[in-house]
Amino acid sequence: MSERIGVVGAGILGLAVARELARSRGAEVTVLDKEPGVAVHQTGRNSGVVHAGIYYPPGSLKARLCREGVGLLREYCAEHALPYDEVGKLVIAANRGERAALRGLAERARANGVPDVAEVDALGLREIEPHAVGVGAVHSPHTAIADFAAVARRLAADVTELGGSVKLRHPVTALRESGDTVRVLAGGERFAFDRLVSCAGLGTDAVARMAGRAGDVRIVPFRGEYFALAGAAKSLVRGLIYPVPDPRYPFLGVHLTRRIDGEVLVGPNAVMALAYEGYSWRRIRPADLRRILTFPGTARLAAEHWRTGVREVYGSLAKRAFLAAARRYVPELTGGDLVRTSGGVRAQAVRRDGSLVDDFVIDVHGRVALIRNAPSPAATSSLAIARHIAKAVP
Ligand SMILES: Cc1cc2nc3c(=O)[nH]c(=O)nc-3n(C[C@H](O)[C@H](O)[C@H](O)COP(=O)(O)OP(=O)(O)OC[C@H]3O[C@@H](n4cnc5c(N)ncnc54)[C@H](O)[C@@H]3O)c2cc1C
Repeated sequence: MSERIGVVGAGILGLAVARELARSRGAEVTVLDKEPGVAVHQTGRNSGVVHAGIYYPPGSLKARLCREGVGLLREYCAEHALPYDEVGKLVIAANRGERAALRGLAERARANGVPDVAEVDALGLREIEPHAVGVGAVHSPHTAIADFAAVARRLAADVTELGGSVKLRHPVTALRESGDTVRVLAGGERFAFDRLVSCAGLGTDAVARMAGRAGDVRIVPFRGEYFALAGAAKSLVRGLIYPVPDPRYPFLGVHLTRRIDGEVLVGPNAVMALAYEGYSWRRIRPADLRRILTFPGTARLAAEHWRTGVREVYGSLAKRAFLAAARRYVPELTGGDLVRTSGGVRAQAVRRDGSLVDDFVIDVHGRVALIRNAPSPAATSSLAIARHIAKAVP
């Protein structure tokens, strides 16, 4: 009998993992998701950027799996006629103070194997993005955009073609390891698996608790809000325009992103959400909030970064702050060019001491493997993360 593996989560990671386990191990896979469709959460609510691997510390899982993931994703999109467009990216220094950081970024990108990275001056950057300004930039011509939700739908089709199943409206509410079986209750149905892999995104802590492995890190939900450029303003941005990131945070700062459907997004900011799936300020879940706030790491994080937090909250409430962030790079933009659009919530792991977990974390113990931290660039890296997990799961 073939190995039976359950996968929690029909986001891009769960589906990529299920497909890889079915392909490489011949496993009989069952994907369980609580939602009525695939890619409802982070996978369907992000910037759609196929990151080239510029920022991540060389040798980290993010650096390795991002580079490997880009190659696999480009091939996968070509094979299945899914959109993939190398629109290119500029990381722009707005002033001399930021300029020093560009050299370090370019060196890191080269160390990670990002192809054709170049440093350009103020004139050079305008040749690439005629409406952008800055004192210099790092240019990554192969940074691309894709439709991660479309990739997830295709992966789901692969899973079923490989004999597996994707069971939607199946919230996992209990699981227990007994002997060599993992018993799972999902959507009122009972399942018995040889192994279970959790790729539950914002639901990670709940699954970890069910597995008896709450551990020392917790997910803190960080909402990322976006505006979209309206009408003719869309033509002011050709590809991807990013600020020099603040090295203290894993978030990349408000950027301008051309999407595969032709829209241009401005965002995302990063505000702590008041529910795991807190897509707006109005969405408050007391039970989630209690869990988030009683974790010692949350208070320490807030104490350390309250100034940035206040600025981000202001940015969330005031369109003016968002416009100012965008106008640093594209000064022709005016208030009328920005219309609010939907955003996403990042599942970001935080340690008890309040520090943000930077790298991907995959925790394999017994018959249950938990992905505990898979923020950006996990969508880019999904096919490589899936290979990594297929090898890591005994
Ligand atoms: C605003 C924003 C911008 C981003 N930009 C980029 C980008 O440009 N490029 C990039 O590479 N990455 C980006 N990311 C990160 C990327 O979207 C995520 O890393 C990736 O989508 C993670 O995929 P996932 O499958 O782990 O999570 P998800 O897509 O969130 O999937 C998790 C799934 O688990 C399900 N689930 C949870 N609990 C349960 C349960 N108990 N039972 C059953 N099902 C459950 C959920 O319903 C969900 O479908 C961004 C993320 C955000 C939020």
